Amino acid sequence: MAAAVRDGSVPADHFLNTALQRAREVDEGEKGLHAFLALRMDGDAPAPGSAAVEASGTLDGGLAGVPVAVKDNLCTLDLPTTCASRILQGYRSPYEATVVRRLRAAGARVVGKTNMDEFAMGSSTENSAFGPTRNPRDRDRVPGGSSGGSAAAVAAGVVPCALGSDTGGSVRQPAALCGVVGVKPTYGRVSRYGLVAFASSLDQVGTFGRSVMDAALLLEAVAGHDPRDPTSVDRPVPDLTGGLDEGIRGRVVGLPREYLPNTLAPEVRARYEEAVERLRAAGARIREVSLPHTRFAVSAYYILAPAEASSNLARYDGVRYGGRAPEARSTLELYRASRTRGFGPEVVRRIMLGTFGLSAGYHEQYYGRAQKVRALIARDFERVWADGVDLLFTPTTPGPAFRLGERTTDPVAMYLSDVFTVTANLAGIPGVSVPMGEVADGSGGPLPLGGQFLVPPWHEARMLQAARALERSLGSDGGDA
Ligand code: GLN
Repeated sequence: MAAAVRDGSVPADHFLNTALQRAREVDEGEKGLHAFLALRMDGDAPAPGSAAVEASGTLDGGLAGVPVAVKDNLCTLDLPTTCASRILQGYRSPYEATVVRRLRAAGARVVGKTNMDEFAMGSSTENSAFGPTRNPRDRDRVPGGSSGGSAAAVAAGVVPCALGSDTGGSVRQPAALCGVVGVKPTYGRVSRYGLVAFASSLDQVGTFGRSVMDAALLLEAVAGHDPRDPTSVDRPVPDLTGGLDEGIRGRVVGLPREYLPNTLAPEVRARYEEAVERLRAAGARIREVSLPHTRFAVSAYYILAPAEASSNLARYDGVRYGGRAPEARSTLELYRASRTRGFGPEVVRRIMLGTFGLSAGYHEQYYGRAQKVRALIARDFERVWADGVDLLFTPTTPGPAFRLGERTTDPVAMYLSDVFTVTANLAGIPGVSVPMGEVADGSGGPLPLGGQFLVPPWHEARMLQAARALERSLGSDGGDA
């Protein structure tokens, strides 16, 4: 697309307009996907602050004229930023996220803001205050979450690539469930400036693509140091696309046994084992490894992430910005009524869990111990890298997309969709989910599964080469856009 726009064979807004048309088609009707919370109007220029940037990058940027969808927890000037929460309904940010600015500078066109679990808390996009997103592969199933709208927009062919955020798996898990590619970079690789905070020590902006190439191109455009985010690291961004086809010959790929429990569905195991054989055939050296603290990861995550969230979400008090209960007559009543009305049940649950885990008398027992477990999980990874393992390969999720409503009354079942993804966030390492075949499922058509590669910090290039190798062997790259 970018090449066609650069050489002038199509007008700069051609792909934006076709994406908008497609977005309306797929989102429409009773069983519409509802991937978007807001769409840019046809031919609309972006708001004044962003227009100059977008125009300046138009004709020679790496993403010239490429339509991109943006998760609704990334601040944009031209469209509201709601985090799919009532408390931010209609909210307009006075500034733009660094990643969005970089997109525009590379010539990309922001098509719209995508649906998500409220404040990115969830694994199915059913926690959106504005209604769930459906999975394009089977409209009675969830797209995964929390970046379900971005994953669905890519899977439905609205856009070739999209931005999401990944705190415990929110890019990789929906990518797996929708049959697309999802990348979570190293913590600090991409600026969080303008990403609405959920759990700041775990949050990272990630990219979706229909192919590894598309996700890598988008990552290249948004990555790199940003003085506005003190946790972004001042380190050059390597060429992620140039060497993508170098393959995995000679690489040592570790298979962590903790990610293949006896309870794993047989068809997931079968697809995984086939993928391992493909990696072997492509020249990888396969080795079994152990990451012994994996079993504590979900527990530690669901103490740490809510703890940070309870602190981050204290800013929605009905005073400074966001929803306000107009009838309140005292300050305390204002806080209480605004927050009660503004937050959905999962967000309330997280704030209560987090506040409890941080409270006097329990702080050491919960938050303190979870921090220690986090250090042990990071050490497990360091040990396998030191033993000569170049990459780890695991299933991304324990199973394919589940039915809408199936897990909404059982938070723990929902939390367990993240067992294989939260470890990367706890350790700060990069991860990618890439399609790993399909499983048949009764009524609907076959459902996609994802395989996950994990690598040491800053080795995204190696990780994407491996993902590309698997993609090619499965013939699932579907033609790069
Ligand atoms: N599903 C996880 C949670 O609900 C992860 C969400 C995310 O990565 N944003 O916390």
